[in-house]
Formats: sequence, C-alpha cells, structure tokens
Amino acid sequence: MKIKNMVLGFSLFLGAFFLTTIPVFAADYVGSGQFPAGQSVRWKFTGFSGGYESHANISMGRWHTYTDVSMLKVTSNEDIKVTVGNWGITAWYGIAYICDIYGNCDNTTAWSNTFASCDLDYNAYFTATSAEKENTFMHEAGHCLSLGHRDNVGSIMDPDRSSQTWLNATDKTLINNRY
Ligand SMILES: [Zn+2]
Repeated sequence: MKIKNMVLGFSLFLGAFFLTTIPVFAADYVGSGQFPAGQSVRWKFTGFSGGYESHANISMGRWHTYTDVSMLKVTSNEDIKVTVGNWGITAWYGIAYICDIYGNCDNTTAWSNTFASCDLDYNAYFTATSAEKENTFMHEAGHCLSLGHRDNVGSIMDPDRSSQTWLNATDKTLINNRY
C-alpha cells in the first residue's frame, strides 16, 4: 500500500500484476490527515548526496516558494526524512511512507490522522535526468504533505514520472487549503 511514483514501462517486463496492485489514488488528498498547519515542515536529507541533495533542495524549495507551506531543512528532529539509496529494481522511483502521531503507518488510518513522520525514499538504481530527479522528489514530497494522485495535465501528482518540475494551479490550491 505504499504510495509510489510509478516506473514508466515497468509493466513491460513484469506484466499487468503491478499495474493492478499499485494503488492509484484518484482523490485529491491521500486522506484527511496532514502535518500540523501553521508551523514549518522540517525535512532532512540522508543517503547518497552527490548528484541528489542539490536536487532535493530545489524540489523542497519549490513547495516552499510557491505554496503556503514553510519547508525547513534540518539535521535532526525532522518531519520528512529524505533518503537516497539503491534498492535495485523496484516498481517505484520514489516512495512516501507516512506514520501518524498514534503509531499507525502506511494505511488509511495514518493518512487521516495528524502526520508524525514521512519517509521519502528515492531509488537511485534508476538513471534520471536532473528534471526527473526533481519531479520525483517534488511528487513524493506532495504525498508527504497530504496530496494524492491526480492525472490531470500538468499536476506534479501525476503518478508517472516525467520531466515536469513545476506545480500547477491545482497543486498549489490544494496545499494552500491545508497549510
Ligand atoms: Zn505517487
């Protein structure tokens, strides 16, 4: 039940199994939960820094600059832990794993309570352009902030990875309505 930025073309060699088991959230939000509004959402970077951390900085900076969310980079006591590692061949480029303040994780209960943490994992196994890296960081951060998948043109929450590195008007409105 992890929330994924899906690998385009993965079904070509794994069949339809993953297509039918990867959850795609049609709702604008993952649930009714979120990190507390009115305070900074703190994030920390861990893992492979070379070639990635600068793009994570840019990606978090876009949410900070273009929406009402205050994103603050920290080295401890983080809300969002961004980890870049090599997980080998997976069905995802990035994953957002949410736990709520009651200890529920990665399920509808957690997504509908106040978030306590979000693990944002980026799989460096797959090669990616700078824009694709930022697309994935931005997309998964959107999940960490409460957004579900949306397939409308130009949304950063489209589940397929692309080179898009901007937030569309709906992305901004949905976040501003919560933070
Ligand atoms: Zn996703």
